[in-house]
Amino acid sequence: MGETQLPVSPHVLIFPFPAQGHVNSMLKLAELLCLSGFKITYLVPKNIHQRLLLHTNIESRFSQYQGFCLQSLPDGIYEGSVSTGDDVVKLCDSLNSVAVPFLRELLTPKSDWNNTKSPITTIIADGIFSVVIDFAQEIGVPILYFRTISACAFWAYFSIHELIEAGEIPFSGNDMDLAIKKVKGMEAYLRGRDLPSFCRATDIGNPILKILSKETRETARANGLIMNTFDDLEGPILSQIQIHCPNIYTIGPLHAHLKSRLAAANSNSAPNTSSNSLWAEDRNCIQWLDQQPSKSVLYVSFGSHAVVTKEQLMEFWQGLVNSGVKFLWVIRPDSIVDQNDEEGKSKSIQEELEAATKERGYMVGWAPQEQVLAHPAVGGFWTHSGWNSTLESIMEGVPMICWPYFADQQTNSRFVGEVWKIGLDMKDTCDKVIVEKMIRELMVIKKDEFLKTANEIAKLGRKSIEQDGSSYCNLDRLIQDIRLMSNPEQ
Ligand code: UDP
Repeated sequence: MGETQLPVSPHVLIFPFPAQGHVNSMLKLAELLCLSGFKITYLVPKNIHQRLLLHTNIESRFSQYQGFCLQSLPDGIYEGSVSTGDDVVKLCDSLNSVAVPFLRELLTPKSDWNNTKSPITTIIADGIFSVVIDFAQEIGVPILYFRTISACAFWAYFSIHELIEAGEIPFSGNDMDLAIKKVKGMEAYLRGRDLPSFCRATDIGNPILKILSKETRETARANGLIMNTFDDLEGPILSQIQIHCPNIYTIGPLHAHLKSRLAAANSNSAPNTSSNSLWAEDRNCIQWLDQQPSKSVLYVSFGSHAVVTKEQLMEFWQGLVNSGVKFLWVIRPDSIVDQNDEEGKSKSIQEELEAATKERGYMVGWAPQEQVLAHPAVGGFWTHSGWNSTLESIMEGVPMICWPYFADQQTNSRFVGEVWKIGLDMKDTCDKVIVEKMIRELMVIKKDEFLKTANEIAKLGRKSIEQDGSSYCNLDRLIQDIRLMSNPEQ
């Protein structure tokens, strides 16, 4: 490159899978890249676009960064609930058929969009869109993958091929406690029930199993893999992944990393942070927490996809009440299903529970979770083990009870209970006696022990995002590599 030529400013197209956890963490990455002066186009379906505008301050927050564009995809994308593997398949299929033709039209050199914006220099796609790798290679733009799950769940998905070849899946009997030997590095503690839930399929032709196995293997074709984790948490598993995908950027926990970089950039004013919630947050719960003693409250939330039946809900509620521990419980309005119930009854159950809960706890439809977990009154988190929730809890040193619902959550919960020893794994049960017992163990009997281990891991997490920490350095390397990708001949 001639010395007089100005370097091209990077313009990154970010394309998340349109679900709360993915949108959340990839938007945090978008903001981190905006802080480095990059232009960002963030691509989401129309319904997600509208919900972000409705429930967050995304417009004002990103208005300080020149060149941030929230871009909608066209109609035709599945908008129903995503609480089963079949739903995930529907969403993937619709995205695959709508997104690439749209991108081709958008990025064609003569398009109106392309004439008003600078060219896209790098694509960061959610790591299950291999059609976007094909497209990026076709138009000659570098592509990085961002896989929003834990390294341990990623590695389990990556190993599906070996699991099938060795006959470890489909499971041959009913014993879900049989040791799994074909996920390298996890032989000492992985059982059938700890594999991602889609591995429970009885047929290897199962569509979601096939998609996740194939898409995860395709990762090696991307120019690099970004992961929301940190080396001190998942180092041994990351080494296994690195054999296949050598260029990994572990830059998490992204929520805390963004907060600390924003604080450093705005040392004179409070950073303009906010959640990326797709539901309206009920902030009144913070005032309720303000009135509770230190580390006395169990926060209960099962994320954005999990649904429960009326029977399960009642077991949970009775276990919670019998434990005698105060609780803050998120019950999403769309999270109670009961096919045998006449319409509207689920709502009345929720209202009944809410009324009965008043002395013992507080219920909301959606909470400002990061703030809740950081509150001094919160001493435990009963979670579905979604990866964002797990990281948010880890960073606040809050021990967990895990009730994994589906997908990667079954593997995350095993790591919480057996590897990191910062909680208890309740998977595959739903019984008020077990609920009560585990709550008492976490919040009373072994409280100090769990808090001590959780604080040690939180400390490692904080160290990773400090200057010279592993995630801090990896983010700098990512930024530098994206700059180089934008100016390949420099
Ligand atoms: N969340 C929230 N309020 C709630 C429940 C969840 O803000 O009441 C956020 C939570 O902080 C996390 C995300 O929603 O960042 C859920 O992502 P996760 O990966 O934990 O689970 P998923 O919803 O994808 O199953």
